[in-house]
Amino acid sequence: MKLLVTGGAGYVGSVCAAVLVEHGHEVIIIDDLSTGNREAIPAEAELVEGSVREKAAEVLGRGGIEGVIHFAARSLVGESVLKPEIYWQDNVLGSLALLDAMRENGVPNLVFSSTAATYGEPEQVPITEDMPTAPTNPYGATKLAIDHAITSYAHAHGIGATSLRYFNVAGAYGSIGENREVETHLIPLVLQVALGHREKIFIFGDDWPTADGTPVRDYIHIRDLADAHVLALETNQPGTHRIYNLGSGDGYSVREVIEMCRKVTGHPIPAEITERRAGDPATLIASSEKIKHELGWNPTRTDLATVVQDAWNFSRELGDRAHSAARVR
Ligand code: UDP
Repeated sequence: MKLLVTGGAGYVGSVCAAVLVEHGHEVIIIDDLSTGNREAIPAEAELVEGSVREKAAEVLGRGGIEGVIHFAARSLVGESVLKPEIYWQDNVLGSLALLDAMRENGVPNLVFSSTAATYGEPEQVPITEDMPTAPTNPYGATKLAIDHAITSYAHAHGIGATSLRYFNVAGAYGSIGENREVETHLIPLVLQVALGHREKIFIFGDDWPTADGTPVRDYIHIRDLADAHVLALETNQPGTHRIYNLGSGDGYSVREVIEMCRKVTGHPIPAEITERRAGDPATLIASSEKIKHELGWNPTRTDLATVVQDAWNFSRELGDRAHSAARVR
């Protein structure tokens, strides 16, 4: 299929773009490179540089595009609390521009990168898709608003759509991993301590209602996540909007993640407790039974050790790359 991948230079988008290319799809990427990396884009893909709001109509207006995988978004919980305007404008208005361009050009197939943050603080875990959605931060609220928009566009205009609600994506695939200019995610930050790029890791609160007092998250391997996108794309039904959770089904506390990073890296990784981060829920664990049952999704990298090991291999490679680039300069 000829596909548009928005946000294909980002961490999740670029791994999915690589996997789609491996599956024989032709990929066009829209990315403004504000947080993504040009080097992460597969060589076979075309890059259209700019925002989704600016470029969606132009690219889909070329014709021949059969499906869209929509990743482009602002995605930091803490930032969304401080600067909600960026999230409502870029996430919601960008997605509406994309949906309109799909409607106008008769593009029938959409996979949307949604999030566990749409559920907010869950009443119970694991979280199933029928549980109430009550986001605790603007990031989750914008993604939920887009999910609602997709439902109505799918029903009214015959688009076949799937929203994939990711829990905490981590790990690496080949030479693509988490490589952001400003890193805020737990595993890459902890690994930066192991690499000697940071002195210590700050734990955002140890007074949460969890077993060890630190927040619990469900870490899903990026490669397993990419497989789910391909499955969703290939099975979308016209006029239907499906929603699936994607996680490993196991929860790990911040302390447990740090401990696993110590084990994998052999580094002591000093940690210090600091204040809670605004917008964080205490526990997020996915039930992914629905996508396993309905689409046959079969994640194979579900243990935290594999996730951290792959992330560590990537972080070291990134460190080596930065080191040789500095020497060339
Ligand atoms: N976290 C932390 N210190 C950090 C970064 C994250 O304690 O330097 C915690 C954060 O409060 C959350 C968990 O680690 O409970 C995962 O955070 P991350 O930003 O990786 O993903 P999120 O759950 O926000 O999507």
